[in-house]
Amino acid sequence: MIRVGINGFGTIGRRVADAVKKQNDMELAGVTKTRPDYKSMVAERKGIPMYAVDMKSLETFRATGANVKGTLNDLLQRVDVIVDAAPEGTGPLNKPIYQQASVRVIYQGGAGDNLAEALFVAQCNFEEAVGKHSVQVASCNTTGLCRTIDAIDKSVGVTKARAVLARRATDPDDVKKGPIDAVVLDPATLPSHHGPDVKAVLKNLNIVTMAFKVPTTHMHLHSLILGLKKQATNENIVSVLERAPRIQLVDGKSGFKSTAAIMDLAREMGRPRNDIYEATVWRDSVSVVDGEAYLFMAVHQESIVVPENIDAIRAVYGGYSREESMKLTDASLGIEHRQN
Ligand code: NAD
Repeated sequence: MIRVGINGFGTIGRRVADAVKKQNDMELAGVTKTRPDYKSMVAERKGIPMYAVDMKSLETFRATGANVKGTLNDLLQRVDVIVDAAPEGTGPLNKPIYQQASVRVIYQGGAGDNLAEALFVAQCNFEEAVGKHSVQVASCNTTGLCRTIDAIDKSVGVTKARAVLARRATDPDDVKKGPIDAVVLDPATLPSHHGPDVKAVLKNLNIVTMAFKVPTTHMHLHSLILGLKKQATNENIVSVLERAPRIQLVDGKSGFKSTAAIMDLAREMGRPRNDIYEATVWRDSVSVVDGEAYLFMAVHQESIVVPENIDAIRAVYGGYSREESMKLTDASLGIEHRQN
């Protein structure tokens, strides 16, 4: 059993915790929180051992009589792998704590730059992470771009990728952030961080990305244009994507006119928290014009990296091939498994 701890119990941490509990080869040793609230109450009801992030936070837990096992340092003694799901930018603060405890670490996309030995998207570079001490799961948008571009590159070849990303402003439970009535350039200059991040995974790719934030909380929307090495039809590209791992196709003519319909599908399918682990491509948007493939893709920011975290845990622990790990992860999360 791989003993896993999770530092940070927010949007990503809570989802990865539930996913770890579903793995037959993993044990959830515990999670951390800064203070007791309804999220820690839910964790207790689920039987998840709770740890405070530090001594001050431990006192806060104890003052309310909440059930807490110790601090992050205590949790680190009980794990083989820690998943860092703490807020954006806190990776550099946490890294020395993990190093001192000699545990393997999985960081998230926004944790910070140059923290880990590899940037990870399971279907693209699982092998690069095998046996490493630290790996960073790519951000949600980078994960979606890598899955789609890699699948098309492996079949017809991609000469260059250009992507314009409309990003959700923030997550549904985050009431403090905007915008509520503006479109915000993110940033005004090119490229957005996604292009260089994709290149850290798909190393030889010529890619430029630009991004802006829109006042929504559910899903990002990408307009993607790929130069193709070989001649291909719309049907060729659709067929590649239909066979690619962790990508689902939807049709505008079937009622998928917006990201809201995709979230509705997840609800109707009974997915936990309406999560959509797959990058979602509009089949009827796929159009090859003058040797370039155009498509629309949606990314559910809260959940697309959950399967990646589970595969990254197995990669750093060692003893699994890419196919073995992805198959186990897909089966546990209800993702249709397609071989890479
Ligand atoms: P979040 O704010 O929802 O959750 C972070 C949690 O960590 C909170 O519960 C917070 O109380 C807790 N925390 C605060 N200080 C801490 C500390 N010092 N140590 C441990 N925990 C602490 O954040 P999130 O959205 O889950 O993001 C976590 C990471 O995942 C970031 O790097 C982010 O960029 C990345 N990520 C987020 C999304 C997304 O859409 N939310 C998608 C992909 C990747």
